[in-house]
Amino acid sequence: MGKLGSLQDFKRTVYLSMIIPSLLAMISYNFFVFNHPGHRKYIVLTGILTCWFTISLILLYQKKLMRLVEYGTLIIITAMHIGTVYDGFFNYIAIDKAGAFGVTVMWVPAVILSFFLILGARRGLVFSLSVFLVIFVMGLVNFPEMSEDYLISVIQFYVAYLFYILIIYFSRFLIKLFADFEDMKENAFTDALTGTANRHQIDIWLEENVLETTEVPVSLLFFDIDYFKAVNDTYGHKVGDSVLKELAGLVKQNLTPNEQFGRWGGEEFIIISSQSGENALKLAEKLRLKINQHPFKTAGRQTVSFGVTEFRVGESVDSLISRADRGLYQSKHEGRNRVTFI
Ligand code: GH3
Ligand code: MG
Ligand code: MG
Repeated sequence: MGKLGSLQDFKRTVYLSMIIPSLLAMISYNFFVFNHPGHRKYIVLTGILTCWFTISLILLYQKKLMRLVEYGTLIIITAMHIGTVYDGFFNYIAIDKAGAFGVTVMWVPAVILSFFLILGARRGLVFSLSVFLVIFVMGLVNFPEMSEDYLISVIQFYVAYLFYILIIYFSRFLIKLFADFEDMKENAFTDALTGTANRHQIDIWLEENVLETTEVPVSLLFFDIDYFKAVNDTYGHKVGDSVLKELAGLVKQNLTPNEQFGRWGGEEFIIISSQSGENALKLAEKLRLKINQHPFKTAGRQTVSFGVTEFRVGESVDSLISRADRGLYQSKHEGRNRVTFI
């Protein structure tokens, strides 16, 4: 229902944004037609269209009879489309007069797009190919009467027409391809369990920070859950997983845009901060307390140990990490649930 509902809403928005300008155009065109005797023959047509667009607008606003609006509009668009092409072939091209055909060509992509929007991909394809066939036959019977110049442009019209149909039909695969690619890119940098950055992303961040560090300080906060194996052993792996998720969410809530946060692996996490070591130490202490005070579902109270250090210009990423790791090790060694600045 959710997906269908949103598709309907999307289509409704598109129709509204198409019908409102069409209605305004029709109303102003009615005045024009009325004041120019040469165009009065169109008054019935523009009158019908104005009525139809008004009815459609009301129905769309009230979210009623949308299928009726769609099919009614489909019939009108198709009739006008075939009508103008017919007019082009039989009243202009046949008697070698340049005219309305050019305008028709401009509308072809919009017309085909409407077919697909109203009918969906498969039926849209069949329908637009059928309309193409009708138009093709109309041209075909006029081929013998066409000058060479016209023949060339008409053939180009057909080729472009088929091209539009195919492009619109295949565009959904293209869009899906792009969407999948975006997903893939996202997954490549995200830890599936906690939704935070993964190791790959952290590595990239670290490299970037090291390369860019000239004026802004960079600090590293490395932390690890204390006795986490006991959580798994006591409550099971699922509860262990939920602790990791909850903890990642808790940490995220307490960070600012100055920090980049991710899961280093297992129950170890990393924060890269663009703050001085002193401020990073304060942040670590704040996070340690927050985690310590948080009642985790099922697993209850948990503690973490931190290693905090500041980047030294000129050193490598490896040396930065191993120093933070040493700080963490010291925190563990000295009894856990503490922060070591190193
Ligand atoms: P310490 O205080 O010394 O860090 O003790 P610890 O028990 O936390 O450390 P140890 O390295 O012995 O155990 C870490 C455990 O974390 C072992 C492993 O099963 C668990 N673990 C690692 N990744 C995951 C995970 O994704 N889900 C769950 N549920 N457990 C995990
Ligand atoms: Mg641990
Ligand atoms: Mg560990």
